[in-house]
Amino acid sequence: MSLIVQKYGGTSVGTTERIEAVAEKIVSFRDRGDDLVVVVSAMSGETNRLIALAADIHSDPSAREMDVLVSTGEQVTISLLCMALHKRGCDARSYTGSQVRILTDNSHSKARIQAIDAHRMQSDLAAGRVVVVAGFQGADEDGNITTLGRGGSDTTAVALAAALKADECQIYTDVDGVYTTDPRMVQGARRLDRITFEEMLEMASQGSKVLQIRAVEFAGKYKVPLRVLSSFEDGPGTLITLEDDDDMEKPVVSGIAFNRDEAKLTIRGIPDVPGIASSVLGAVGRANIEVDVIVQNVAQDNTASLTFTVHRNDLSKAKDVLESVAKELGATTIEADADIAKLALVGVGMRSHAGVAATMFEALAKDNINIQMISTSEIKITVVIDERYLELAVRALHSAFELDQEDTEEA
Ligand code: ASP
Ligand code: MG
Repeated sequence: MSLIVQKYGGTSVGTTERIEAVAEKIVSFRDRGDDLVVVVSAMSGETNRLIALAADIHSDPSAREMDVLVSTGEQVTISLLCMALHKRGCDARSYTGSQVRILTDNSHSKARIQAIDAHRMQSDLAAGRVVVVAGFQGADEDGNITTLGRGGSDTTAVALAAALKADECQIYTDVDGVYTTDPRMVQGARRLDRITFEEMLEMASQGSKVLQIRAVEFAGKYKVPLRVLSSFEDGPGTLITLEDDDDMEKPVVSGIAFNRDEAKLTIRGIPDVPGIASSVLGAVGRANIEVDVIVQNVAQDNTASLTFTVHRNDLSKAKDVLESVAKELGATTIEADADIAKLALVGVGMRSHAGVAATMFEALAKDNINIQMISTSEIKITVVIDERYLELAVRALHSAFELDQEDTEEA
């Protein structure tokens, strides 16, 4: 018998029929003898609907009241799910975040979990009940309702699994796992049996949107085995886990992540002296703009140029900052380019394999794709290219690294 925390996302509980289907699923797990704590999201679209209601009334609503409002979506689904379980003769009880004492800090709409009191859930489990908990919410020290940020139910599930020392945390969603890359872009994209927390973080922060990033961080920190699987079809899903040292078959590249959310800025003709990067990027940072990939070059005339990427929404603000810095430093030109895409090869196997970058660059060269920027970490190689060639690049790399080959590894 094991203790499993399951989380069902918004589409999985999007209608009363689907809520009943989830109840069926839970009952079959109970019949196998597993203890279950179930976390649910709001019905799909509900959180957005609530946010729109607020916008009708106030252009800048109080953060405290917003949390009181948006947390109601999950309160609806916990009660409906329990009713569906009762109808099937399954004992179950619903709880809001504050009822199970999910204590958070007081930063409304992006609160962080500080502690969870597992006692109440444990006594329900001991009494043979399924415990159903509202995702995405908690309460601060003073009992104010807080929420954990969009997609926060994933984090609730992982945090409960850590607090209860569950055997596994299962995230049921509308896709059947984590893929080598977006299957809508590459037909041969393949579901991964396993991926490490580190790889998943890189994939998630690079725009693969299966899981909330904070949930993955949390799971890695507390070593909670995390599985992503479909609530509509049976299947093993993808297990997100610690790196296994004995795993000789570790793939060099596990996946390709990409995004179109960034833009590129270049400032040219700045003096090549110490402190230059700091004066340019310091000014950008003070304007609260996050910088991602950075490249600096020195020309033959001993002037330097600095190129970096920011979120596309920050492009014009960042350009304004550069224009004022340019005057102080005597820079010659500033260029801004929104039509870029960033893509990254991710894989823990890269640590022990040389030549991954060479293979990547060769594959891009073959298709005549110009690389504008490169940055690397231990388990990732990132390039910035013209947005027009993104699909072509992803497909080329997917086949260059044979990611669409049948997996021969045992799960
Ligand atoms: N209902 C919240 C949202 O839509 C939390 C979640 O679904 O995880 O973001
Ligand atoms: Mg979600």
